Amino acid sequence: MHNHGNYIISLGNLCRWLAEQAEGLGVEVYPGFAASETIVEDGQVKGIITGDMGVARDGSEKDGFMPGMELRAKYTLFTEGCRGHLGKRLINDFKLDEGKDPQHYGIGIKELWDIDPAKHEPGLVIHTTGWPLNESGSTGGSFLYHLENGQVYVGLISDLSYSNPHMSRSTSSSA
Ligand SMILES: Cc1cc2nc3c(=O)[nH]c(=O)nc-3n(C[C@H](O)[C@H](O)[C@H](O)COP(=O)(O)OP(=O)(O)OC[C@H]3O[C@@H](n4cnc5c(N)ncnc54)[C@H](O)[C@@H]3O)c2cc1C
Repeated sequence: MHNHGNYIISLGNLCRWLAEQAEGLGVEVYPGFAASETIVEDGQVKGIITGDMGVARDGSEKDGFMPGMELRAKYTLFTEGCRGHLGKRLINDFKLDEGKDPQHYGIGIKELWDIDPAKHEPGLVIHTTGWPLNESGSTGGSFLYHLENGQVYVGLISDLSYSNPHMSRSTSSSA
């Protein structure tokens, strides 16, 4: 929990910047295209297939219909986040979780606040370990990151192991 000398950054801005660097190196970025299938041949991952575009609710093809593209590569890296649907399939098919600790999950929310400049301290990081969730018998914690321009990231992470089904209500009333 020690963050002295580190930077507070926006992951969204970092990713936009990284995309520019990658494109400058000749990488093709396809924003808005979801990988919908993996290509597995001879027991090896060979690439992915993107989803069809322009499909109506009833499954019929609309005017701008574009079939998914096959993208093949020497290496395919899956970076869908902690619970991607392709990842889940690969974990299952290749038994990647055998003998491993099971994944566990939390849910996080974040807001960007403009606060009173007199209370703003750029670089200030505050974590609350447990609070205010411990009052409802749940685990998790919160954070306050003071960015530049009088703004603060305010967030709360709650582990999804809570036993109190009314946690959201009791948390908000105690916060
Ligand atoms: C509210 C909140 C606050 C947090 N604060 C911090 C913090 O202060 N510091 C810190 O270090 N960490 C923080 N984290 C955790 C951090 O954000 C994550 O650990 C990190 O973003 C995980 O990165 P990732 O690349 O594995 O997945 P993600 O960031 O989840 O990226 C996965 C990407 O893949 C895309 N995707 C999914 N499926 C497909 C598909 N089939 N085809 C194409 N694209 C797909 C998704 O749209 C997404 O853009 C926070 C998380 C939350 C929720």
